[in-house]
Amino acid sequence: MPEQSPLDLPEGDPFGPHNLPYGVFSLPGSPDGGETRRVGVRLGAHVLDAGAAAHALGSPYASLLAQPTLNPLLAAGPQTWSDVRRALTAWVTVPAHREAVRPLFHSLADVTLHLPFDVADYVDFYASEHHATNLGRLFRPDSEPLLPNWKHLPVGYHGRAGTVVVSGTDVIRPSGQRKAPSATEPTFGPSAKLDIEAEVGFVVGAPSELGSAVPLSSFRDHVFGLCLLNDWSARDIQPWEYVPLGPFVAKSFATSVSAWITPLEALDHARVAPPARDVAVLPYLDDSAEDEPGGYDLRITVSLNGEVISEPPFAGMYWTGAQMLTHMTVGGASLRPGDLYGSGTISGPEPHMRGSLIELTWNGAEPLELPTGKRTFLEDGDEITLTAWAPGPDGIRVGLGEVTGRIAPARTTD
Ligand code: CA
Repeated sequence: MPEQSPLDLPEGDPFGPHNLPYGVFSLPGSPDGGETRRVGVRLGAHVLDAGAAAHALGSPYASLLAQPTLNPLLAAGPQTWSDVRRALTAWVTVPAHREAVRPLFHSLADVTLHLPFDVADYVDFYASEHHATNLGRLFRPDSEPLLPNWKHLPVGYHGRAGTVVVSGTDVIRPSGQRKAPSATEPTFGPSAKLDIEAEVGFVVGAPSELGSAVPLSSFRDHVFGLCLLNDWSARDIQPWEYVPLGPFVAKSFATSVSAWITPLEALDHARVAPPARDVAVLPYLDDSAEDEPGGYDLRITVSLNGEVISEPPFAGMYWTGAQMLTHMTVGGASLRPGDLYGSGTISGPEPHMRGSLIELTWNGAEPLELPTGKRTFLEDGDEITLTAWAPGPDGIRVGLGEVTGRIAPARTTD
């Protein structure tokens, strides 16, 4: 029986032609020894060598796609993103192209996936009201959970772009300095409260000019697509170091992103209005008159060693991706292709919707009961996986690429 063509997908496959996320892959078994990285587009359980397909079909985008990273495509801007997506859709759906593109697919089982773009700047926000409220209660039990600024601006910090890693990369348990509230002196050692933060990452493509703010209405002119993101966090290092300048060592050791970037155009059916705001914002952040809703209805699942531990809803985020982008640039900061910003931990109103272990276990006081034993924070060997889907056309789901990571032991022990 002939092998089924990658082009003949079961109906309703969440990675069907309506999705077409971008990644970068290499072929370990190829004559180049797996050295050559190429832009790929996922279809089902296969990846299309996009540059090779463009070349085979005489496309003007061959040089843009025959690249080792997505950065040239990111820099090309929204008109080119749409044109390339339209071309790719035709290559995988029009019968006349079948024979040309079929040999250019590879099974996902045969490829190595790489970090799909060179990360320029990395910023992380704090846009979930439920998460910020939970953390406020845990870290500042004697005061209002939300700080006075929280509903006036999307709070964020600049993170470490060089330690953004692709899904599947082991995360080495960090060591650092920590001090329990009851202790008189800080100590040094491996984190005993290693945590996750389930987030969505926004991948910036088109640059902006230094000195010019990007208005809310220009979100889609600059943001290329979304990925899943896990902002690994050391909860014992964080509270001692973060005052007054924000997170540092507790969050700079690794940030994992999915290998697939879902273009915004694939998520048009997932757009939803954000929650009603109960505090008026300044005009530059006021999205009440925008043409399109700024939220995205992404349904996220967090698994620990294969067991589902949380289902955070992205639709409930207080601040939108557009508001984060606008606030990030309002002082005149320029955007570069490959800039990445995270939404902050996604937590919903119910306990099973919390996107971090510190919330799920209430800072260790209420351990999770798993088949593999009780868990408060992560143990060596634990594997965390985030998956997600969004509503797509005709009731078909749009799958987002997973982000997974396993905890490796600390390299220093004292
Ligand atoms: Ca975070």
